[in-house]
Amino acid sequence: MGKVYLVGAGPGDPELLTLKAYRLIKEADVILFDALVNKEILKFAKQDCIKIYVGKRESRHTISQEEINELLYRFSKVYEKVVRLKGGDPFVFGRGGEEVLFLREKGIEVEVIPGVTSFLGASASAEIPLTIRGISSSFAVISGHPNRKIDWNVYSKIDTLIVLMGVKRRREIAKKLIEAGRKESEPVAFIENATTTQEKIIFTTLKELASNPPEVNPPAVMVIGDVVRTSKFFNNKNSFETLIKIS
Ligand code: SAH
Repeated sequence: MGKVYLVGAGPGDPELLTLKAYRLIKEADVILFDALVNKEILKFAKQDCIKIYVGKRESRHTISQEEINELLYRFSKVYEKVVRLKGGDPFVFGRGGEEVLFLREKGIEVEVIPGVTSFLGASASAEIPLTIRGISSSFAVISGHPNRKIDWNVYSKIDTLIVLMGVKRRREIAKKLIEAGRKESEPVAFIENATTTQEKIIFTTLKELASNPPEVNPPAVMVIGDVVRTSKFFNNKNSFETLIKIS
């Protein structure tokens, strides 16, 4: 009987893989991978490795979570090293928790290898520190997926708010946050395809987002808060100094 490794593939750039993830990808007999895994990373696999795409793109669910669980279980019965490769980190909105619980129940050995989650890759790339003295001492990461119910009052009080899966609902998110008390002038950054060759950063404000949202394409990380102004890519050059002085 084999073992299942839940491996974080990082945000995109293959060099952001951990050494452990890299080794396991090279040694894997089977790899089940998601839509957001950079295909370059799969090239590290051995030639006879069985690679299976089990991506679930928002509305086009090709395979259910139950089917993925079942596949992991069955492969682990036959092969020694089964790698479940997930974009970013397996335990950040990746349903990794469900897979671990399922396999544990079935008596299958599991090991979790963390990955650089997309919001850390994105904030590093865009040079937006999530915490910085005088501006932000807390951050929260939420899912903007339409199925999630969110208590906006809670998140209106967090200094830096990060939204994953929020592109579709970006306008509504901005409206809700303003209603819940966030400043309309607060800057917002979207980092599309972070750490890949297609990376793009879009800056806006909550006000603009609520009225006339700019075009943004998924996958993107949304960062809301005054820290956005400190990015070297932000167009208002002097705002960082201004912010530090105010606070
Ligand atoms: N486990 C993943 C998150 C899965 S949810 C992680 O740790 O990052 C999927 C969401 O992650 C996307 O909707 C998007 O918001 C974000 N995401 C993943 N990869 C990304 C990338 N390269 N660039 C920007 N956003 C990304």
